[in-house]
Amino acid sequence: MSRLQGRIALVTGAASGIGLATSLRFAREGATVLLVDRNDVALRAARAALPEDGHETVVLDVTDEKGWIALAERIAARFGKLDVLVNNAGFGKFGSIADTTLDQWRSIIAVNLDSVFLATKYMLPLLAASGRGAIVNMSSIRGIVGAPNTGSYCAAKGGVRMFTKATALECAAIGNGVRANSIHPGHIATPLTAPAYTDREIARTLLADVPLGRIGEADEIADGILFLASDESRYMTGGEIVIDGGSTAQ
Ligand code: NAD
Repeated sequence: MSRLQGRIALVTGAASGIGLATSLRFAREGATVLLVDRNDVALRAARAALPEDGHETVVLDVTDEKGWIALAERIAARFGKLDVLVNNAGFGKFGSIADTTLDQWRSIIAVNLDSVFLATKYMLPLLAASGRGAIVNMSSIRGIVGAPNTGSYCAAKGGVRMFTKATALECAAIGNGVRANSIHPGHIATPLTAPAYTDREIARTLLADVPLGRIGEADEIADGILFLASDESRYMTGGEIVIDGGSTAQ
């Protein structure tokens, strides 16, 4: 049975990696997918990879508040509701605290954390209109356990984790039917991480940290996101799913 039949699902960072794998999975499960990304060219290629009709692309920088307001108006006019919001867009730039400039810090916080706040703020009325809205926020194992030279990324992803819990509790208190959960991947092979995994020394260090002994696939994260987006997780809110080959179990 299709787990997202008839649902409208918005995925940010949909043009690549985990966001693209999630969009494909959602489409196969019957959802109409709104693919959001700032990369116009990659977005068109991603849309072409989706087999069914009805899906739409939106070129948007997820840190752009006015863009979110305009998108909320567009979804309200077109669909009148939103069933699933996946706040996936993000990136990390790693370096010591001493070497990180304030501008670099702010850009990591903006893309990974401000974006989740903006999307939640402007999509919440549409998710409430669904009656069973589901928010899935992309954190990381770096939102749970720290590591050297990842200060801004850890701060952003830890912020996503706690913002998700606050969102879940606020929605439960209002009783608007919206659930919010976070997802925490470990080392996953995507265009974002390709440079690290092609460097043998870095890849060896990372793998030493993974009990299952391999790097994860984007599809393996999409499976977790699908669970959190579907009714299978209907009694879950403010929770988190860690998909990391056992890295944080040690
Ligand atoms: P990716 O680079 O393959 O895809 C990210 C997509 O987000 C790209 O298409 C990019 O254009 C888009 N994007 C980036 N900034 C944007 C912005 N400001 N506005 C709109 N779109 C923007 O990366 P990925 O590995 O698939 O990562 C997806 C998410 O998963 C990120 O939030 C990342 O931090 C998180 N994550 C990844 C891993 C991993 O190992 N790959 C592990 C933990 C968490």
